Amino acid sequence: TLVAKAIVHQRKAQGLEVYDFGLGETKGDLLPEIREAACRAYTEGNTKYGPPAGMCELREEIIRWLGYEEDFTKDNVVVTVGAKQALFNTIATLCSPGDIALLHPTPWVSYIPLIHTVSARPELVIPKDPDASRWKVSAEDLEHCLSLHPQAKLFLVNSPCNPTGQFYTEAELLSLVEVCVSHKVFFVLDRLYWKVLFDGKTFPNLPTSGEAAKWIIHIDGLSKNFRSTGGLRIGWTVAPEDITEAMIRLQSHTTSGPSMPAQHAALAALQTPYNNEMIVELETKRALLQRETQDITHVHIYPTEASYYSFWDVRGAFGKTTPQGKTLENSFDVSQYLLHEYGVVTVPGEAFEQNGFLRLMFHIDNETIRVGMNKAKEAFAALQV
Ligand code: PLP
Repeated sequence: TLVAKAIVHQRKAQGLEVYDFGLGETKGDLLPEIREAACRAYTEGNTKYGPPAGMCELREEIIRWLGYEEDFTKDNVVVTVGAKQALFNTIATLCSPGDIALLHPTPWVSYIPLIHTVSARPELVIPKDPDASRWKVSAEDLEHCLSLHPQAKLFLVNSPCNPTGQFYTEAELLSLVEVCVSHKVFFVLDRLYWKVLFDGKTFPNLPTSGEAAKWIIHIDGLSKNFRSTGGLRIGWTVAPEDITEAMIRLQSHTTSGPSMPAQHAALAALQTPYNNEMIVELETKRALLQRETQDITHVHIYPTEASYYSFWDVRGAFGKTTPQGKTLENSFDVSQYLLHEYGVVTVPGEAFEQNGFLRLMFHIDNETIRVGMNKAKEAFAALQV
C-alpha cells in the first residue's frame, strides 16, 4: 500500500488521473450528533482518565446497539481503541506463545501480524473447493482443520467479509459455532460491517445464553457502519464475563481505554436512531459497479452480498502480456499495471493471503466508479495472450 500511495502521489503531481478503489474507509459528513457530543466533551472538561473498560453508559449502550439486553450486561463489554485493539485484546487474552489461532482463508490484513505479536501461530482454514464456496468455510472444513490442529485456541471469522464482500447466513454461522463449542475453541466473530447488508438481509442471531455463549466473542466498532468515524478509534468486544475481566486487566496496562471525548461521540452515535441512508447509497454504488464491469475480460467478479468491497478473481490475466511488454504473474503485478498505466488503485490479494485476487472499495463518488471501471475494462482488454 505504501508503494501504491507513492505512485498515486506521483501521478497526481504529474496532473494524471487517479481512480482510488484502495483504502477501506466510509465517506461523507459526520453525524451532527456525533460531532456535537465530541465538542461538548471538550467544552465540559470530560478529558480526565476514564474507567479502563470504557464508560459505563457506553458499555450499556453497546449491549442495546447489538440487541443483547436480555442476556448480557456492561460486564460483557470492553470499549477499545478501534476494532483493531478489540482484536488484539482477544488474541492476547486467548493465546499463549506457540498456540494456534485459526483464521478464515482470506484474513483481513492485520489478523496475522496481531497473532504474531503474541508469538502464536496463524493457520488458515481452507475450504475444500474455494472456487465453489467462494472462500466460505463450512463446518466440515473447520472439523478437518481442527483434526490437524487440535490445540487451536480460537477461530476468527469476518462476516460481512473484508475483502470478499461475502456474508455467512445464520445457519452457516451456527454450524461453525457448534464445531467450535464441541472442540472448546473460541469462536471470534469480527462483525465490524454488520449494518452494511444488501438485498434486505438481516444480521444473524448467535446464541447469547447457554454453553455456546461461553465460547463466542463479538468484535465490533464505530468505523464502518457510520460515515467518517474511522479516526475516532472506537471499537468493542462483547465476550463472556471471565474473558472480559481478563481483557480489562490487559487493557488497563496498555491503553487505559480510548480517549474520553471519542467515547462520548460513540455514545451519541449509538443513541441516535440508525439512519440507513448510507447503506442505500452503497447499494446503488454496488449496482453501478456491477453494471460497469459486466464484460471485463479475464476477470471473474464475486457478487458483493455485504460490505463495500468488490472482490475480483484475476487469475485469468496471469501469463498475459501488457502493451508495455510485462507478463503478469501475480495479483500484485495486475494491481501495479492498473495503477501505473490507467491510474486505477486496487489492493492485491497478497494482502489477504490470496494471490490471484484484487479488492476494490466502492464507497467513492459515482463518476470515479464509472470512469475507473471503464479504465479497468480497457486495461484488461489490452492484454495480449
Ligand atoms: N476488522 C476488519 C475486517 C476491518 O476491515 C478493519 C478495518 O479496516 C478492522 C477490523 C479494524 O477496524 P478499526 O479501524 O475500527 O480499528
